[in-house]
Amino acid sequence: MSDVIAHEMVVSFHYKLRNNEGKLLDSSPDGVPMPYLHGHRNIVPGLEKEMTDKKVGDKFDVKVSAAEGYGERVEGDAVVPRSNFPADVELVPGMSLVAENADGEAFPLWVTKISGDDVTVDPNHPLAGVELNFEVEIAAIRAATEEELAHGHPHGPGGAHDH
Ligand code: ZN
Repeated sequence: MSDVIAHEMVVSFHYKLRNNEGKLLDSSPDGVPMPYLHGHRNIVPGLEKEMTDKKVGDKFDVKVSAAEGYGERVEGDAVVPRSNFPADVELVPGMSLVAENADGEAFPLWVTKISGDDVTVDPNHPLAGVELNFEVEIAAIRAATEEELAHGHPHGPGGAHDH
């Protein structure tokens, strides 16, 4: 296949992610490329942009600013009583939750601290404010199925979820 990465293709890629100090922050599991649906914000915008027009076998490095990555850090951590969370959800520092604002719009929050009945939540992704250095190798490119396009993410091995 001589396909290049374009809008609405499912792309699988191996990656390593480091901060500017060279510390490994994340990576695809050994030998198992991560799939995403191009053009649907499954991956950070700065990386997605650089993926366009690449082909299977391409290896490249991408430096992504915080703004094009997980965002700049913003103010807004808050302490919330434990009783505001569903009782059956086990809260642990580092986990993310989906909250709703007054207009009913969903937004992510991260639990940063739990102290007795006080739960501290933060609107910042743990990697907000961090410049991201990706090492990428494209493993596969294919057309998306209609179901994948409707869901906005890839299915199958390594996909977002099972149905
Ligand atoms: Zn789905």
